[in-house]
Amino acid sequence: MISEIDKQYVLGQMNVVLGEGRNLGNSEIQYYCPFCSHHKPKLQVNLESQKWRCWVCSARGKKVHSLLKKLSVDYDVIQKVMKIYDEAGYVPKADDEFVEIRLPSEYKTILDNQHIIEFRVAYNY
Ligand SMILES: [Zn+2]
Repeated sequence: MISEIDKQYVLGQMNVVLGEGRNLGNSEIQYYCPFCSHHKPKLQVNLESQKWRCWVCSARGKKVHSLLKKLSVDYDVIQKVMKIYDEAGYVPKADDEFVEIRLPSEYKTILDNQHIIEFRVAYNY
């Protein structure tokens, strides 16, 4: 667990680069994804577990600072964020590890199927 003050600091730094995030509760913050620029906020960051991912593109990571690095945030800020989580001693639980899901070879992403009628509906979802 990180303290509320530290959490507010991390949140503040993310809001600077990603815009005002929407708090979904349970430390989950939702942002517009800077990697795919989807028109809906599909990038989700967890301030406790530090895991972040975009539900549209493949952007994801296990640490908040890796997200900040990708967004060219000042090194001082990244250092401070790393320190906050280091001091909080966050240790991932075994079942908390990232699990890679293998998709069948015939799987196609929705972007490969733009010609089908469901595409627009699904994409706008
Ligand atoms: Zn994305």
